[in-house]
Amino acid sequence: MNFGTIELDDDTLAFWKECRAFFTEHVTEEVHDEERRTGGGFNLDLHLAMGERGWVAPRWPTEHGGAGLDALRAQIIDLERVRSEAPSILATTTLLPPIAIRKFGSPQLQQEILPGVADGTVRICLGYTEPDCGSDLAAVRTRAVRDGDEWVITGQKMFTTGAQFSQYCFCLTRTNPDVAKHKGLTVFLVPLGLPKIEITPIETLGGERTNFVHFDDARIPDHYRLGEVDDGWAVVSAPLAQEHQMKDGDADRPASIDHYNVATRRALDAVTNWLASQQRSDGTTAQDDPGAIEALARIALGVEVCDVTPGAMRRIVSAETLVRAASDLLDIVGPAGSLAHGATGSIADSAAEYAFRFAPGTTIYGGSTEVQRNLIAEHLLGLPRSTPRG
Ligand SMILES: Cc1cc2nc3c(=O)[nH]c(=O)nc-3n(C[C@H](O)[C@H](O)[C@H](O)COP(=O)(O)OP(=O)(O)OC[C@H]3O[C@@H](n4cnc5c(N)ncnc54)[C@H](O)[C@@H]3O)c2cc1C
Repeated sequence: MNFGTIELDDDTLAFWKECRAFFTEHVTEEVHDEERRTGGGFNLDLHLAMGERGWVAPRWPTEHGGAGLDALRAQIIDLERVRSEAPSILATTTLLPPIAIRKFGSPQLQQEILPGVADGTVRICLGYTEPDCGSDLAAVRTRAVRDGDEWVITGQKMFTTGAQFSQYCFCLTRTNPDVAKHKGLTVFLVPLGLPKIEITPIETLGGERTNFVHFDDARIPDHYRLGEVDDGWAVVSAPLAQEHQMKDGDADRPASIDHYNVATRRALDAVTNWLASQQRSDGTTAQDDPGAIEALARIALGVEVCDVTPGAMRRIVSAETLVRAASDLLDIVGPAGSLAHGATGSIADSAAEYAFRFAPGTTIYGGSTEVQRNLIAEHLLGLPRSTPRG
C-alpha cells in the first residue's frame, strides 16, 4: 500500500476551495438542525444544488448529467461533503442501483431514470431487508407474481432508508419459491407513487428515520423489471459488491471517506475542547488528567488508523473505533455527557451523547460487520464460504 502524499496542482487546489465553499454555503446550521430533528439523511435543496453541478454523480460523463470528473476530484467532493456533515445517506444509496440499471435495464428505462439521478430529481432507496431477513438476503419473501404485462407484488421491506424521499425502490423479490433460494429472485425498480404501496416510519435509537415499505398486491408494469426473471441475484451482486467495497473499478462515488470516522473525530474534538475549558483550582484543566490524556490519545490514534485503512476493511475499523470511542468519551465527561443536544446542562455540544447513540447502528447497516468479515474472508482472501449456499 502506498502511504505517500499527493502533490496537488493549482487547479486541483482551486477546485478543493470551491468544494469547501459550496458545502459551507449549503450545509447550514438549519440543515444540521433539521437533520437532528428528523434524521432523514437527506436535504432536497442541497441535493438539487449538487445535481446542478453534476456533483450527485461526479464521475458520470457530462452527457449523462455527471461532471465527468476524475477519481481525485470526485474524492475531494466526497471529502468536503462528509466533512461538512451533510445529510447524505440517500445520495449514497441512490448511486448504487444505476450500476445495475445500466447493465440490466432497457434503454427506455435507463433514459427514464438515469438523467434524473444525475440532476437530483430521482432518488432510489434500497429494498433488500425484510422483517425476517437481513444478512441472509437470498431468503427474501416479498412475492412477485406475473399477471400479463404486470407483476403483483405482496410483502414487506424493512429499514428502507430514504423511501419517504425516493421516487423508486430497488426491490429484491421472490418470483420462484421452488428452487434454491438465490435462484428464484427478481429485481424491480418499483415506482413508489403507485397504488397499494405504503411507507411507514421506523425511528431508531441513533435518531435516523428509516421505513417499512408495505406492498399490498401492488401492480408494477414489467417495464420496471431489471434482468431476467429469477436472475435477481446477478442483478443485485454488482451494487452489493460496490456497497461492501469488494472490488474497485466501477465506483461512481469513491467510497473511502466515511462519516463514521467523522463522527468519532467530531466527538473527540468536542470533548477535548470541553475538558480544556474546565479550569481547576490548581491551575490545571480537566484535560490534564493522565487518564483522560491516555484515553483521548488512544481515540486519536484510532481515528488516524481509520483514515489509512483501505476499502473493505475500513468500514469495520471505523465502526468499531466509533463504538469504543463513544463509550470512552462518555466515561471521561461523566453523567452530563449523556444529555441530548439542547437539553439544560448538556456539555461538549452533546457530541459524545450523539456518538453513543449513532455508534451501534454503524456495525449493522449496509450489512453487519460480522458479515463484512465473512465477505472479506471469502472474496478477498479466498477462504471457504462461512455458510453453505441453500
Ligand atoms: C438504521 C438502519 C438503516 C438501514 N438501511 C437499510 C436500507 O436502506 N435498505 C435495506 O435493505 N436494509 C437496510 N438496513 C438493514 C441492514 O442492512 C440489516 O439490518 C443488516 O443487513 C442485518 O440484518 P438483520 O437486521 O436482519 O440482522 P440478522 O441478519 O438477523 O443478524 C443478526 C446478527 O447475526 C449476525 N449474523 C447473521 N448472519 C451471520 C453470518 N453468516 N455470520 C456471522 N454473523 C452473522 C449479524 O452480524 C448480527 O449480529 C438498515 C438497518 C439499519 C439499522
